[in-house]
Amino acid sequence: MLDKFFNSLLENNPYFTAGVGVVGFGVGVATLRRGLVLGTEIARRRLLATLEIHSKDVSYMWFLQWMSQQPARRTHKYAVQTSFVQHDNGSVSTAFSLVPGPGRHYFKWKGVWFQIERHRDKAVDLITTTPFETVTLTTLSRDRHLFTELLHESQAIALAKQEGKTVIYTSWGPEWKPFGLPRKRRLLSSVILDKNVKERIITDIEEFIGNGKWYSERGIPYRRGYLLYGPPGSGKSSFIQALAGELGYNICILNLGERALTDDRLNHLLSNAPERSILLLEDIDAAFTSRKLQDDGQGYPSMVTFSGLLNALDGVAASEERIIFMTTNYVERLDQALIRPGRIDMKEYFGNATDYQIKHMFLRFYENEESLADEFVERTKGRAVSPAQLQGHFVYYKNNPKQAVEMAENVFQAW
Ligand code: ADP
Repeated sequence: MLDKFFNSLLENNPYFTAGVGVVGFGVGVATLRRGLVLGTEIARRRLLATLEIHSKDVSYMWFLQWMSQQPARRTHKYAVQTSFVQHDNGSVSTAFSLVPGPGRHYFKWKGVWFQIERHRDKAVDLITTTPFETVTLTTLSRDRHLFTELLHESQAIALAKQEGKTVIYTSWGPEWKPFGLPRKRRLLSSVILDKNVKERIITDIEEFIGNGKWYSERGIPYRRGYLLYGPPGSGKSSFIQALAGELGYNICILNLGERALTDDRLNHLLSNAPERSILLLEDIDAAFTSRKLQDDGQGYPSMVTFSGLLNALDGVAASEERIIFMTTNYVERLDQALIRPGRIDMKEYFGNATDYQIKHMFLRFYENEESLADEFVERTKGRAVSPAQLQGHFVYYKNNPKQAVEMAENVFQAW
């Protein structure tokens, strides 16, 4: 009885029925929405594929560079990336490339649309003080094989830019970073050294490379140190650059005066230099004078200690091939501990130009001018002249070998 009464009351009450209707509708919509979200998520997972590239990964830069070359892009937000190279004569070339800035962009490649989202993380790289970043690429699942293709292509383009070139790395905190664009290889024949100097170094280094087994069998660290010393402008840096080009190696320049450098970081850098690279410590006398620390020129002391440097040089992992070049204008200022055998295995003097060098430099600028070359040698005899001074003179009279001889006296002027 009571049941019936309540039922009839509820069924016949228009307000109540409307309420149930609204609630029912609300629940329905909410369920539908949740279903839709879930459905979209499932569909997204099934239909879409994503690829995440973190800025710590080497392919990150390759990808951004590649992206900057893609024409079919829908983006209005760019970020600029500047690279520059300082040439031997001090001039600087700069190149800008526009890469997609943070945010969401779309581009089409091989007929397929990609969404790219560049996201800056909150975490900051403490060394470079730049935020870490992630790039997330999204495309249809059926096209996901294009991710691998795209990565291969961007890698190939990046490496092709380096082919036949020498990449210069500099230390950046505990890491090695390419400095500017890869440089055109310098030909070994363009560096004129005294008789047999070039041959001696090259024979030694070629004997070293590829002989790791010999070293490991005898328990000797697989590394070789070279010291090039002599006055400025004698070709020390040029020779190392040309040698790297000849061997197909890159160069890692270590700046011991760098403020952020500590013994630990130095150790890490020396043990983690990029493969196939020559480690170069330039003007080593400027960093350490008889174990005294030098400042970086702005009054900030370098934090690397002399014993830290020796430890780092000795501590390079035994199995890894390591070629170290040091240069100095003042060999007498160097601490003997730094240049003892094992740290420095070969020393070569790069001096002022000998008659042999003067003649061959002349002939490199003015082909087949044998007799003029001999005359030039006669006119400069007995006086000190650096190859850099000679180069300046020959460049000045580049189209006129006769005048270069007549004005030979000018070569002794400071350039
Ligand atoms: P260093 O490192 O001994 O101070 P660099 O290698 O920087 O000398 O040379 C300075 C300039 O002089 C470069 O432009 C280089 O081309 C030229 N130069 C110096 N020495 C030689 C050489 N032996 N043969 C050819 N060019 C040279």
